[in-house]
Amino acid sequence: MLIAIDGPAASGKGTLARRLARHFNVPHLDTGLLYRATAAGLIDKGCRLDDVEKAVGVARGLALVDFDEARLRGREMGEAASVVAAIPAVREALIDAQRRFAGRPEGAVLDGRDIGTVICPQARVKIFVTAAPETRAQRRALELAGRGEKVDFADVLEDIRKRDARDSGRSTAPLRAAEDAAMLDTTLLDVEGAFAAALKIVQERAAVAS
Ligand code: C5P
Repeated sequence: MLIAIDGPAASGKGTLARRLARHFNVPHLDTGLLYRATAAGLIDKGCRLDDVEKAVGVARGLALVDFDEARLRGREMGEAASVVAAIPAVREALIDAQRRFAGRPEGAVLDGRDIGTVICPQARVKIFVTAAPETRAQRRALELAGRGEKVDFADVLEDIRKRDARDSGRSTAPLRAAEDAAMLDTTLLDVEGAFAAALKIVQERAAVAS
């Protein structure tokens, strides 16, 4: 069972991916962490986020485990990640590791921006998760506040809009739904509702495939 989940920031795709992975007992890779960790590595070395050579070096050296999630999931790192994620050579450096993860014999769930379009276009189950920007900003603000970050709703909404524009507008692997992705709008759904809707999509797709 290979499940590809894409969508914009704070659409609920991460929570959904984790739940589906647990349900089907397969490993989950949050690919946003790879870009966040690349940005963090550059910052730690005192390098600029647009230093292509250094960024590729950091990306190539990443292990897919033991991420410092508390640090990586902070607000600043999301913004920095979307800057390094627009560098084609950085994306290229991260492709093989993601595809190897997706190729595990037991299956996998991957979530990100280009999973259905670039990393695993062969996945039969592709879900593109969306939600209204205001709803996403509310969720992200709650999440950040829950982790002790001081947040202002208007700032978070602006971050989300900026990140959407950068992720959708870049030339390499822009954020977009694969043609055969099922669309899932979570604006009016809670976590359980989104999970139930996703499970239905997976079951329908799996039935068509068998
Ligand atoms: O999903 P998350 O918010 O953690 O992703 C952080 C940033 O990493 C995104 O805004 C996007 O620019 C980038 N990203 C990407 N491709 C992916 C996953 C994340 O470009 N597959």
